[in-house]
Amino acid sequence: MEITEQMLNIYETRNRGVFYSLYPLWPSENRDAGDIKDLDHFQTVLARPKPSDDYTHVYIHIPFCDSFCSFCAIPKRIAKPDIVVDFLGALKKEINRFAQTPYVRSCRIRSLYVGGGTPSVLSLDQLEWLLDYCFETLPIEKDAEITVEGSTHNFSEEKLAMVLEKGANRVSFGIQSFNDPIRKILDLQDDKGQAISALKSARKAGFEDIDIDLMYNLPGQTLADIETDFQIAADLGLENISFYPLHVDKGTRLYSRIQAGKIPLGNLELEVRMYLKAAEAAKKAGYEQQSILSKWMLPGKVCLAEKHRMGPYDCLALGPSGNGNLGNYVYRNVSSLQDYLALIQQSSYPMGCGQKISTEEEIRRYMCRAFSFLKMDKIEFEKQFSISPEQAFPEEISFLLRQGLIEINDQEIRLTPAGEIWGQNVCVEFCSKQWKEKLIPQERTV
Ligand code: SF4
Repeated sequence: MEITEQMLNIYETRNRGVFYSLYPLWPSENRDAGDIKDLDHFQTVLARPKPSDDYTHVYIHIPFCDSFCSFCAIPKRIAKPDIVVDFLGALKKEINRFAQTPYVRSCRIRSLYVGGGTPSVLSLDQLEWLLDYCFETLPIEKDAEITVEGSTHNFSEEKLAMVLEKGANRVSFGIQSFNDPIRKILDLQDDKGQAISALKSARKAGFEDIDIDLMYNLPGQTLADIETDFQIAADLGLENISFYPLHVDKGTRLYSRIQAGKIPLGNLELEVRMYLKAAEAAKKAGYEQQSILSKWMLPGKVCLAEKHRMGPYDCLALGPSGNGNLGNYVYRNVSSLQDYLALIQQSSYPMGCGQKISTEEEIRRYMCRAFSFLKMDKIEFEKQFSISPEQAFPEEISFLLRQGLIEINDQEIRLTPAGEIWGQNVCVEFCSKQWKEKLIPQERTV
């Protein structure tokens, strides 16, 4: 696709991360402030069986790593034995507390994602306990998708074999890049050869669904590097590739090195070019796009964790920094491990913020999440909310049409190829004005 000046000027930046998935919660405020509203309502929701038989997703956040990547701004700790034991004790209480509620007991859990952080830093016994405990206490469906995330340098063959035996059927690795000089800049612990060898071990252990994260617009990365990364993934037959642009956050080692002029930084045009190159390379290698979050899947494969997390489903989020929604209540757990441990100790919900979702917010939330999957079903929307998307969002839809980011027919509204480039910005358009102003002040330029 030809990149025009007009196309690049629609927004100042491409939204990075999935902030809109938290709507109506604001992503960076109140992470630790205890701004919890409507708690009585949450307790009422939990005290009754779930009124529908829709699937539920479970996300468990393990806030530990054994080393820190230079670009990473996620709150995490080095996995020291005592603090890991304290954390698992608290997590057990949190799981158990939810598992005893009529609401969670009546859920149909169809996907469980153990993420972080780096779950594979847990010992073999700890990982085994965690999976056993989840299956014992939570109503997980027989054919559920169970993912465990890890790093290629510490997800040993023994751990891979054990998690498979315990019911995991999917593993996810943060590869970021197969290019060794770039891996060094990112402070990744192993090289390309070792990373590939770990991916082969996962296959040898018996995993038929292997997911990797790749990043683009990395310092020194070229379009040819992108193509090579996709080709390596395709040659390994990996089922799922998630592809993210680099976001340089203040406070990271990478940010300091860039500020000191030691490392060059890409720009928006390069980021878009790399995104398009990745899409081309993915298609060439036989992958199909599942979402605007650049999840590319081999034909016939689907990532249920993403479908459920970003779709109109419940998510029971556990552990620090977990973002969840049950019934019409949305919450975010505190990100500080100390605060998390203290709140569990006090038998409180370990939330930093939470609130009931109003009807207006529910409609906005539905709409922005629907576009995560490239298109939204107008008929389904109308059935659910008794109003058409055009009636509910006249200004937003007219803006997106003018910019050539969406196209509409009788059945659906879908992103155009330009809309795919700006997919997360399109989703954010449907959040409330106040929320958008906080997230992207004056971002819209047209
Ligand atoms: S392993 Fe993941 S969570 Fe840990 S520092 Fe690296 S990117 Fe961040």
